[in-house]
Amino acid sequence: MKIRQLSPQLVNQIAAGEVIERPASIVKELVENSFDAGASQISIEIEQGGISLIRVRDDGCGIEKEDLPLALSRHATSKIASLADLENVRSMGFRGEALPSISAVAKLALVSRTQATDCAWRVSADGTESEFHFAPDSLPGGTTVEVRDLFYNIPARRKFLRTEKTEFNHLESIVKRMALSRFDVSFVLSHNLRKIVDIDAEADSLNQKRLAWVCGPTFLENALVIDVDASGLRLSGWVGLPTFSRSQGDMQYFYVNGRLVKDKLIAHAVRQAYQDVLFHGRHPVFILYLELDPCLVDVNAHPAKMEVRFRDSRSIHDFLFRSLHRSLAAVRPGDPKVIEISRERQAQDNAPTRRVPSNYPPVRSPIQSSLPLRVSEQIESYAILSGERSNVAPTVDSVSSESYDEVPPLGYAIAHLHNIYILAESKNGLILVDAHAAHERVNYEKLKQQYASGEIPAQPLLLPLRISVTESEAGLAADASEKLLNLGIELDRIGVDSLVIRSVPSQVANGDVECLVRDVLADIQAMGTSTKVEQKINEVLSSIACHGSIRAHRKLTQTEMNALLREMESTDNSGQCSHGRPTWVELGPKELDKFFLRGQ
Ligand code: ADP
Ligand code: MG
Repeated sequence: MKIRQLSPQLVNQIAAGEVIERPASIVKELVENSFDAGASQISIEIEQGGISLIRVRDDGCGIEKEDLPLALSRHATSKIASLADLENVRSMGFRGEALPSISAVAKLALVSRTQATDCAWRVSADGTESEFHFAPDSLPGGTTVEVRDLFYNIPARRKFLRTEKTEFNHLESIVKRMALSRFDVSFVLSHNLRKIVDIDAEADSLNQKRLAWVCGPTFLENALVIDVDASGLRLSGWVGLPTFSRSQGDMQYFYVNGRLVKDKLIAHAVRQAYQDVLFHGRHPVFILYLELDPCLVDVNAHPAKMEVRFRDSRSIHDFLFRSLHRSLAAVRPGDPKVIEISRERQAQDNAPTRRVPSNYPPVRSPIQSSLPLRVSEQIESYAILSGERSNVAPTVDSVSSESYDEVPPLGYAIAHLHNIYILAESKNGLILVDAHAAHERVNYEKLKQQYASGEIPAQPLLLPLRISVTESEAGLAADASEKLLNLGIELDRIGVDSLVIRSVPSQVANGDVECLVRDVLADIQAMGTSTKVEQKINEVLSSIACHGSIRAHRKLTQTEMNALLREMESTDNSGQCSHGRPTWVELGPKELDKFFLRGQ
């Protein structure tokens, strides 16, 4: 077999195989180039799903005439010059491959004009890198790239393209992701001459239009603001409340230094942070930005730059998990008010003008100036809002209008409906609480704290309880007696197949003790090794909590109900039971009016 040097066009076509899968991938590369050029306005015109035309126009720095052929040549870039630059990449591009790859699989024309020149130049290329045709053109400044007839010369790949509509959907979702990575850039997207979206960065200074376009109009009301800074790492953005979860993981956006990435480590950390509060099979919604020193991430890990490598992945994982876990746990009934306040405060501020000055935009969090409250501040403001919370309801039957300001977020109990739901009157309207679910969460969080700080207080049973178990369960109980003691459960094996229960955690002493012990033994048995129990201790604690919770058969007194409401207000994760189901809902004036067709 003879060895041959491949032609530049074939080399470019091979490279295109890695980065250009479909029209959406071209849009991604072109918009990244516009970002790198410091553009503040990007317009994207699409025809027939991007198969017949993609035109990306920007107002960035432009390319000088003599550099145009280089822009279209392989391994030519203005973004890095040395290995040191590669280890410190701040731009989106750096491989010098996108334009030549595109020109090898489609008809490409580049029109550009820098500030310094009085005329724009158009150059077209066919990926052979041998001939470039120049012509003067008119363009106010910036760059326009036109890509026509994708895969016109590679029929085999053209066959893989889907319908126009599907290709456009892919393309639109790429534009959404990119719009979320740079809140200071305006975007216009049109398809077959119809405008799909037009987001003006200045007019949308609260980012509401952009977020609504990507995550739906109710996302902001159902999201927490994240902004955590620690030892050189910054995590900011929005995470959806557990109740705003989805059946698919389709609204998850994670940016590392402005670059959207998909990463197993990140996905794992986020999933873990939500583990305790999400109903099984549901997926959280999030838009998160991680910023760190570029030399701590390797962005050269994937041709389409969709993956990164962290130098210290362990500490990134821990930082993400801890920040998110803490923020989610800190949600308290009544919190949305805090977000509203911060929005109002924001609206009073003048929206800062944010133009990117240089070819290498400094990486910056897009929410820096949008919702300024940090989690710690949120908690503080919450404390101020709610004032001193007392355990006691006012003596009047219901809340008089003058005293509404002092009403705690979950209000005061009115009734225990069917011995299941607590009805309470709140400042806004009516609160409904699933008493069992809420009590379960309160117990669970208490157990977690007690377990973390040493031991769960055990309460001896007045009459030790004898139970029959299988022989293997009896053996397990004896082997795991130390572990069980830490959980507040004291057992003795008194025969081949019988145990006696001497004490249980105090919260569950009034529950079904026998059932509790059986379940915990089953948990431990299922987990097998003893380290596994340690890892899954939350599952064990959650099943203990479940047994101690109010069963739906006893009528609660008003004092008990109010005590539970007050406990919920100060308990982590109190919005969901330990299985992720909601524990309470509020029917505000809007919902109540709707029942009676008021104001319609
Ligand atoms: P890379 O982005 O990795 O450098 P590309 O092939 O995407 O490689 O682009 C090659 C070069 O062309 C870039 O380095 C940049 O100098 C120039 N360029 C491409 N698009 C634009 C644009 N929209 N505005 C200004 N310069 C551009
Ligand atoms: Mg590029």
